[in-house]
Amino acid sequence: MATTVTRLAPSPTGHLHLGHAWSFLCTWALARAHGWSIRLRLEDLDASRASADARLDALWCLQWLGVDWDGDPELQSEHVDRHQRAMQGLAARGLVFEAPHSRAQVRAASEHAAEPNEANAPNEGDAVLRFPPSLRPPPGDSWSFQNTACNHRFACPAGPRTIQDQLHGDRTLDPSLVWGDPLVWMKSGVPSYQLAVVVDDLAAGVTDVVRGEDLLDSAVLQSVLIDALGGACPRWWHLPLVVDEHGRRLAKRHDALSLRSLAAAGATPGRVRRLVLHWCGAAELGGESSPAELASAVAPDALRSLVATEARLRVTPDIVHWLCHGP
Ligand code: GLU
Repeated sequence: MATTVTRLAPSPTGHLHLGHAWSFLCTWALARAHGWSIRLRLEDLDASRASADARLDALWCLQWLGVDWDGDPELQSEHVDRHQRAMQGLAARGLVFEAPHSRAQVRAASEHAAEPNEANAPNEGDAVLRFPPSLRPPPGDSWSFQNTACNHRFACPAGPRTIQDQLHGDRTLDPSLVWGDPLVWMKSGVPSYQLAVVVDDLAAGVTDVVRGEDLLDSAVLQSVLIDALGGACPRWWHLPLVVDEHGRRLAKRHDALSLRSLAAAGATPGRVRRLVLHWCGAAELGGESSPAELASAVAPDALRSLVATEARLRVTPDIVHWLCHGP
């Protein structure tokens, strides 16, 4: 069995778009070129946004792109017992507490707390509500995990923390200044993203996390949670993001750039793979590319040089036209 394991972790809350295609094709290519195993985990904990339709869309997109994986897909929502056990472990170490505060209460207390300085600011767009330690309960019953219908937070240790990213190098920030005490359990009875991702990656033996650089700062917080759970940090690979012609990161509003819409308009998986090769500096736009070509062209050095030159992976109307109609 492969001892190096990566994962694909789509959130089935909408249609997958070209940004997902870039990140999943890079993950797949790195894995297949180096003999890593690939797990597929559908991150469907947000019951208000996850849907069966989006789950099917994610599976369809991966197959359409030529991305395969090893073993059965896992639904994150089927493993809440695992997340509960992790919470019990943290509670036994006195690291989590009940936090029934409303957002307004947190915001008011946060305004009186020190602002994170620029070096500690999260990425643009990652607006986080910082929970200041002044709101922690006094020692006692609230430092437990009994009532799973109550928000719980993790007492984040103060101080700078550094992770090594395979593409970005060292990343240092003080998570307590960015997040304060982050939410780890939600009153809806499920873990927060930050806890769930760490627990599930540890359970799956993930050694290499490949994903968009919008989560680079979160990786620093996740490394603290991994320590608290007694796990080992994976290697991190945070990829540059795909942006639209105005430089905005692709999101739900870009439904025309969803893989479903593009395929309906005539785009082929071979051209999407070719675009990935093009972004890696390995091919002109023109023909189509096979999965095997991708596996040899998406190399760590090519990705590093994209990061070093702060290259923008831009989807212009010309590119969309070519994807749908060919040269
Ligand atoms: N499910 C998350 C997303 O689609 C990715 C989480 C991760 O890779 O850590 O944004």
